[in-house]
Amino acid sequence: MITFNINELYASMAIQAPNLIEITHDLQKISFAAKDVILNSKNVAHGAIFIAIKGERFDAHDYIYDAFEQGASLVIVNHSFYQAQMKSVSRDKRFELYKHLILSVPDTKEALGQVAALVRSKSKATFVALTGSSGKTSVKEMSFAILSQIGKVLATKGNFNNEIGVPLTLLSLEGDEKYAVIELGANHQGEIAYTAAMSNPQSVLINSICKAHLEGFGSLKGVAEAKSEIFTYPQIEDLKSLSLNMPNKIEYKNNQHVILNADIIFDALQMQNSLNKTEKLEGEELTKFWLHHLENIKLKTLFSIDEELTKLKNNVLSQSGYKIKDISISIAGSRFTLVTPEGHTQITLKVLGKHAISNALAATLLCMSVGASLDAVQKGLNSIEPVNGRLYPIKLTSTTTESKWIIDDTYNANVGSMKAAASLLKELPGYKVFVAGDMAEMGPYSQVCHEEIGDFIANSQIDAVYSVGQWSQFISSKHPNSQHFESKLALVNTLKSILKEHAIITFLVKGSRSSAMEEIVFALQER
Ligand code: ATP
Ligand code: MG
Repeated sequence: MITFNINELYASMAIQAPNLIEITHDLQKISFAAKDVILNSKNVAHGAIFIAIKGERFDAHDYIYDAFEQGASLVIVNHSFYQAQMKSVSRDKRFELYKHLILSVPDTKEALGQVAALVRSKSKATFVALTGSSGKTSVKEMSFAILSQIGKVLATKGNFNNEIGVPLTLLSLEGDEKYAVIELGANHQGEIAYTAAMSNPQSVLINSICKAHLEGFGSLKGVAEAKSEIFTYPQIEDLKSLSLNMPNKIEYKNNQHVILNADIIFDALQMQNSLNKTEKLEGEELTKFWLHHLENIKLKTLFSIDEELTKLKNNVLSQSGYKIKDISISIAGSRFTLVTPEGHTQITLKVLGKHAISNALAATLLCMSVGASLDAVQKGLNSIEPVNGRLYPIKLTSTTTESKWIIDDTYNANVGSMKAAASLLKELPGYKVFVAGDMAEMGPYSQVCHEEIGDFIANSQIDAVYSVGQWSQFISSKHPNSQHFESKLALVNTLKSILKEHAIITFLVKGSRSSAMEEIVFALQER
């Protein structure tokens, strides 16, 4: 268990006088456990430290008296709240406040980060951190599976990857972990510098960069800058200097291993050749940006699953010694040879899709950079199971003469993942049917985006396209063998009759969450 006392807590936080309350002799003896730090007043138990954070929809300062009633030893509040309370509440309430230990800090969100950094500094685990526009959670799960073969691992739960989620993850450290895998996400500049500084990782990975969340970052260069904070963040000298507004200072760390998807740099090089002037200019800037970083990072490895591209890239980039060979894709998963400097091994990845192979390579590099063996990598990757709704294979019939499957990818959809799904379907056996619902939240780009997918599918050797929804007709209409339906019931009836016509057939069903295309998947399973 990781514990700390009140003095260490004070030393880690930017606590402002004059509201620093005299520490009683008794309190000095108490040791708090990391798990005692609580944000939700409902979970406060005897001895807890309650940090009151003001969110967009609620303000936990409204619950500090509840926290005291439930036995909190210590409540940390915003300075502004404390001052307002002192001025406005009744004499009795003020007296009530004085009876408890309240720490007033400039920003309780930062206080949470600072106590998390304190806990992290007491952990003996080796930390790795990863970011990217997509695949973060997938790579994190794979890294967790690999490192769990050789010791206890703490990994980010679910998608807890922001300025609140990362400190909460660190506070769940128990102290006997050998490794910690931390997912870092961002929707604004500076967020990753902050969460990376508190995680202090030995190896870091940028998995992919694409035009996601452009609203928050302005441009692809903006996205690249935000993600690269995972290795440019300034190291904190003392914990209380950890701030939501980390200074904009670049520090390359001599002992930190940086792992980069080479496609990121290759894409920038490609953009330079664009006929579109703006894109060309952006490509030049981005290339300069990445090459400058590559020159300055001491310890780095680049990877790509595309052998041809890797050869091309090696003119610009150094060889990593890691690659993927002999990919064969089936409904049961992808089989491939993983080549590493420590030898090669055969992997069967039950998660479908080429991007999953890339994620597997990324997880391999990240884990091997902190000492995982090839054996651990193989066992870990082979143990990964597909997740419902995400390219999840469902068997309808499988005999010696018949093979009928649904690939359920109904969890969500965007342009990238629609194309990834079509590329996968192309590789699968028999009569291939793409069943498309709408992609949501495309605003004025709805029609062009659906048409783009329509063109892509029409060029993917897929036998038929069926659609239902407001926009998906722009997908199906591009295909010579297609039909658009007004209702899901009518679509299901047609799909059921097609199912009878082919001995070997695969349906791939996909749409945004709001399209609820899983209804089609359920209906197809009813006989
Ligand atoms: P979030 O930003 O929500 O945390 P994430 O980066 O953690 O997302 P995942 O949850 O791992 O990403 O995957 C989300 C989706 O992104 C997947 O369903 C898949 O469609 C797509 N995806 C996963 N890996 C990649 C990859 N390497 N390249 C492109 N797309 C990917
Ligand atoms: Mg995630």
